[in-house]
Amino acid sequence: MPTKALVVGMKLSGMASAELLVRQGADVRATDLKPLAALGPAEELVKRLGIRFARQTDAVFEEPGLIVLSPDVPADLPALERARLRGARVIGEVELAAPFLHGRTIGITGSNGKTTTTSLIGHILRGAGMAVQVGGNIGTPVTAMIEGSRADGWNVLELSSFQLETIAEFRADIGLALNVTQNHLDRHHTFENYAAAKRRLFETMTASDCAVLNAEDAVCAGFAKHTAAEVRWFSGARSVEPGAYRQGDELVLDGRPLMGVSEIPLRGAHNVENVLAAAVAAARAGVSHAQIAAAVRTFQAVEHRLEFVRQIEGVDFYNDSKATSVDAALKALDAFAGGLWVILGGKDKGLDYAPLRAPLAAKAHAALLIGAAAGKIAAALAGAVPLVQAGTLEHAVRTAYARSQPGDTVLLAPACASFDQFRSFEHRGETFKEIVGRLEAGD
Ligand code: ADP
Repeated sequence: MPTKALVVGMKLSGMASAELLVRQGADVRATDLKPLAALGPAEELVKRLGIRFARQTDAVFEEPGLIVLSPDVPADLPALERARLRGARVIGEVELAAPFLHGRTIGITGSNGKTTTTSLIGHILRGAGMAVQVGGNIGTPVTAMIEGSRADGWNVLELSSFQLETIAEFRADIGLALNVTQNHLDRHHTFENYAAAKRRLFETMTASDCAVLNAEDAVCAGFAKHTAAEVRWFSGARSVEPGAYRQGDELVLDGRPLMGVSEIPLRGAHNVENVLAAAVAAARAGVSHAQIAAAVRTFQAVEHRLEFVRQIEGVDFYNDSKATSVDAALKALDAFAGGLWVILGGKDKGLDYAPLRAPLAAKAHAALLIGAAAGKIAAALAGAVPLVQAGTLEHAVRTAYARSQPGDTVLLAPACASFDQFRSFEHRGETFKEIVGRLEAGD
């Protein structure tokens, strides 16, 4: 009798899981909190695969022997605990894909910098002529990468804590931990659980694998004690062995100079760390110093991450719409010397904006406030920096440009979620670029 499998959550990863399970001959059922008619492409897929769909209730968890969770489904739902107790296997999509993925795997986890570092590693390996697929938490779900995976190729995977918390068989040949900061405590409840989910990546590794850890992050460094893999380090602050570090204006990899910091086409000290981490991983995968340096020089910022948009009349425009938290906005401010017009605001995530006071006072001509959080931000920043209640993004961009001087920078680094005025941070960033694209000299 075929395995009864349940796929929970029918977005990209759930859809790819359902396809794989049907190919494997399982008796598949799909579920979601939303009705099928509201699931867009999933409705079509359910019909095409001829599988059953039921709205998510406790009852759907009662029968299946295998339950595959999408990344945004909490692994500790009471109904899942009961399913485990009766012997069901509860896994995520990454674990489901593991036995079928050909080639070697690089897994990247961390609270910040995953997408940038994952894309950069893909770019370096591709530049060195290797067969590479990039996916996981970005773009293509791991199950959808199976078909394109090659025995002689590399799978470069961005992995979130939600995807890692259920792994058992999944193993990365090279695993990276960039940093672990307070994040997603709503889902993991405690910092310890959140760190433990990320640590899973290193716990399934064997002696022939390599763990690349941030020596300056106490939680990441602690993973060294929980892995059988060889450990290599990276540090933005001091020399480490074996691994890569920054020494003044130079990057050093495995004891030899790699490249100058000024050659990195990404702004900010945090991106230097991302480059160091990527370099250690790429070197372990067999890429030479010269090839790594050449690829880093031609890497373009991932869209919406401190992305350079345009210069008009000597004024630069940067899109950091992905800076949806105060921490990320601080990183963005840190990447500039001064002359800033900073666009802040959106949907408040309950964060304290006061840490923005000092860097804004030091570097910004003004902060232009938009969206629902504008009032709360104004109260937190009052007296530190001139404030403009701009309301909309369009008004903010136009006001900043009208008041700016050549040499200034208009920076969208909102420190808030986007959902009050936009569909997503991508939509907000695209709107920003579209408004900036319409500006004309002298506007
Ligand atoms: P993620 O995929 O983990 O969200 P991204 O590469 O999309 O990471 O970067 C998101 C934001 O996190 C960036 O805009 C930047 O502000 C911040 N960031 C990027 N890399 C780092 C890092 N190494 N350390 C701290 N913050 C970082």
